[in-house]
Amino acid sequence: MDFAYSPRVDALRAQLNAFMSVHVLPVNAAFQHALEQGRFPIEALEPIKAAAKREGLWNLFLPALRDNEPGTRLSNLEYAPLAEIMGRVFWASEAFNCSAPDTGNMEILHMFATPEQRTKWLDPLLHGEIRSCIGITEPDVASSDPTNLQTTIIRDGDHYVVNGRKWFTTGALHPNVKFCIVMGLSDTRADANPHNRHSMIIVPLDTPGVRVIRNLPIMQHFAPEGHCEVAYENVRAPAANILGEEGKGFALAQARLGPGRIHHCMRSIGQCEVALELMCARAIERKAFGKHLSEYANIQDWIAESRMEIDQARLYVLRAAAMMDLHGNKAARTEVSAIKVVVSRMQTRILDRAIQVFGAKGLTNDTPLAFFWTWGRALRFIDGPDEVHNRVVARAELRKHKER
Ligand SMILES: Cc1cc2nc3c(=O)[nH]c(=O)nc-3n(C[C@H](O)[C@H](O)[C@H](O)COP(=O)(O)OP(=O)(O)OC[C@H]3O[C@@H](n4cnc5c(N)ncnc54)[C@H](O)[C@@H]3O)c2cc1C
Repeated sequence: MDFAYSPRVDALRAQLNAFMSVHVLPVNAAFQHALEQGRFPIEALEPIKAAAKREGLWNLFLPALRDNEPGTRLSNLEYAPLAEIMGRVFWASEAFNCSAPDTGNMEILHMFATPEQRTKWLDPLLHGEIRSCIGITEPDVASSDPTNLQTTIIRDGDHYVVNGRKWFTTGALHPNVKFCIVMGLSDTRADANPHNRHSMIIVPLDTPGVRVIRNLPIMQHFAPEGHCEVAYENVRAPAANILGEEGKGFALAQARLGPGRIHHCMRSIGQCEVALELMCARAIERKAFGKHLSEYANIQDWIAESRMEIDQARLYVLRAAAMMDLHGNKAARTEVSAIKVVVSRMQTRILDRAIQVFGAKGLTNDTPLAFFWTWGRALRFIDGPDEVHNRVVARAELRKHKER
């Protein structure tokens, strides 16, 4: 496999880097300050989104655009290095309409939405006019095994009635959010096939009975747009809002998660590059006991190990992206699980070294390091914990030996 960036990708990387310098970095400090104050600065973001759209840096993540839809068609392999650049500033992806969870939601709507759902929900998402969230995880059950989910989605005439409680619903308090894709039980019979009992439904967040209970703080991760606990109490969503077929929620969840993990990994690699740059700059500039920190062997080791780990991880992610392009999401499943474990663990290791080189300052918000560490730690749960992904890799490996 050849992972050299094509001339088209190189041109897009240059364009994206320039865009970040002109439009994103100058407002970064003010943007982060607003987030720290608990306010999502939508007024700062909208002009950047408009500029990105004008420049064709829009919906870069979605390979399967139809003719009248806005965006730049790229393969997963082509998009990956662009996600790395966007990831360097953690809020930047939204400026290009490439942020989670909308990317995953747009992917499943693209694959499974009815024409009516497409007009009402997908088109405004593709144009960046609204945002969305996804409600799978629940406080009361181990949600890494979604057969446990207890929220119910029960047909009642022309509606489905949703009852339950979700948490970690990212973006539920974003100023532009309009709906949540909720996953729950539509077949409550205990003897039903555990993989055909769940459905996904589009729930507009202004429907009576939807209540954001609280925004969960995640260590240093400022998110006024929210990782929210949300109650659904007798929420009546039109039957036309069911996604795909009733009972096929598992298949939808699987279709949604593959490319998203590539995106998360590449954004993390961008953050690791920032950490390594900051680590080197600090080690060159700072003196202790008569020597620059960069002259100490242990710090040189940290720098060298970080460079080697990032380069290995990037190649691994690009290989998973290429497999997805060549053979489909299902065929790349083991690699996609593997990269999620490798990259999230790498992120906390590299960030930990960078924080150490910075001294106590590394723990403050004067640098992005503490935040990036938190993100790496969170990534060990987002889209499934390490242990579940390790199991996928181990099973694939054992299968090879059993088949011998
Ligand atoms: C920042 C952030 C944003 C998130 N955003 C969303 C969102 O938008 N929407 C959403 O629905 N969810 C979201 N999540 C939730 C995330 O997807 C879940 O936390 C994750 O799937 C794990 O589920 P759980 O927390 O219920 O852990 P549990 O299922 O309770 O698992 C707990 C632990 O059990 C162990 N374990 C589980 N399975 C196995 C196994 N097979 N073998 C060995 N050990 C095992 C692991 O150590 C695991 O960490 C988000 C989480 C974070 C941190």
